[in-house]
Amino acid sequence: MKVIVIGGGPAGCAAAYTLNKDGHDVEIFEASDQFGGRTKQLRRDGFNLGTGALFLMGGIYPRTMALLQEMGRKTELKRWEGTTELMDEDNSRYEVRFDSLLSFLKLPVLTFKDKVRLVYEGLKLFLTSGPKNPFSGTELAAFDRGDNLEQWSRKHIGDRAYEYLMRPIMDFLYAVPLKELSTPFPKAIIQQAHKLALSVPPEGIGQINDWFLEAIPKENKHLKSPVDKVERIGEKWRVSVKGGVFDADRLLIATESFVAAKLLKDLIPKEAYESLMGTPYTEYAHVAVAYEKNPWPDYPVDMVLPVGVGGERNVGAMVLHGRRSPASVPKGGQAVGVYFNTPPLEKMSDEDIKREAVSQIHAAFGEAPKPTFVHLFRYTKGLTIAKPGHYGRLDSVHDILPEGVSLAGDYFSQAGVEAAVYSGERAAQDLV
Ligand SMILES: Cc1cc2nc3c(=O)[nH]c(=O)nc-3n(C[C@H](O)[C@H](O)[C@H](O)COP(=O)(O)OP(=O)(O)OC[C@H]3O[C@@H](n4cnc5c(N)ncnc54)[C@H](O)[C@@H]3O)c2cc1C
Repeated sequence: MKVIVIGGGPAGCAAAYTLNKDGHDVEIFEASDQFGGRTKQLRRDGFNLGTGALFLMGGIYPRTMALLQEMGRKTELKRWEGTTELMDEDNSRYEVRFDSLLSFLKLPVLTFKDKVRLVYEGLKLFLTSGPKNPFSGTELAAFDRGDNLEQWSRKHIGDRAYEYLMRPIMDFLYAVPLKELSTPFPKAIIQQAHKLALSVPPEGIGQINDWFLEAIPKENKHLKSPVDKVERIGEKWRVSVKGGVFDADRLLIATESFVAAKLLKDLIPKEAYESLMGTPYTEYAHVAVAYEKNPWPDYPVDMVLPVGVGGERNVGAMVLHGRRSPASVPKGGQAVGVYFNTPPLEKMSDEDIKREAVSQIHAAFGEAPKPTFVHLFRYTKGLTIAKPGHYGRLDSVHDILPEGVSLAGDYFSQAGVEAAVYSGERAAQDLV
């Protein structure tokens, strides 16, 4: 069967891999000049910078890991410990590990009562039923009670654990106020926290897409090919790109949700169009500050997360990329990724963001000479926001698509590579 995949992020690439493995003839169209979507790598002056994603999460990412294993690539992943300093407003530092919730129990700012509460709530969550697969929108929808993560955390783990544990972790991962997020996904991750392990492919996260597409013939992989129209022509599906039209028996759309909405506008019911179009995304920015000579060769941890009670913070995380992924920097160099939070960002110009990134780096790691370059990645639509009600609304779209079309993308559950890969694999299987 001939299948066209539109969109070459991890969802589209995992879908193409699955279809090709199952013996179908796959043709993939990607709008930009590189596959990978928000996991792409950017090469500049000897640095290999991630434009988006930073790490995979081990056992919490079962389908990604299973496909990497199947392709014989899993052993190539480099483990990253994610050693972290929480940086308090008075500059006190507390060492934790991003991959270990238990390490947060040692925080001196938490009282004995806070810690007992955390352990009790953790155990309670572990023992209650929740979505087995935190990346299935269908399962998440079944556990969405309409509450938001800030409300839930303050009530269950208390204000200090909210500020020093839940907020720094989620600020880094999702960059929006926690009152914007629904609870089934983070709860499911806490239930599976013992499976968490961070890792990175040797050439950066974007490399997984190259691996997925390795077995697909070169002439079936189209870059710089934005699809601008899809139509039903008799029994076939036709897509139009700048270079012409292409026909197939089935169509798999793995773009961002608003692109899928526009492509399918005349082919789906209004409610499906509105659900796709209405998916909220954060405006998002991160900055890579590159140094030819590492100013902090002996810094004891891999990243710094600002914390403190109450206030708005511009930045969610500062990551020493050379420690996360040694191949991302030239020998002896260092690059720091500064990941911004969304509300303060709205008021900042590009130059403000770059200046703020360098000043935050100095506060976190110490003064440094002028960087080799400062590269801003700014997205008007960065990460999807899974608000209460999100999963159910989008999951219902699957049931009202025209025959022969399926959709994939991380937006069906929660932004992340596993959400994309799982949805791509599932869409491919459903389609054929
Ligand atoms: C700064 C940042 C940090 C992140 N960190 C992590 C992390 O550490 N770990 C993690 O797991 N996830 C992380 N993520 C999230 C992760 O990158 C996304 O979840 C993932 O890339 C989503 O994959 P996708 O295929 O659904 O969408 P995308 O990656 O957005 O891919 C969609 C693709 O469709 C293409 N496209 C759009 N329109 C068309 C068209 N008309 N025709 C053809 N092609 C089209 C786009 O160009 C794009 O390549 C991060 C994201 C960002 C932005």
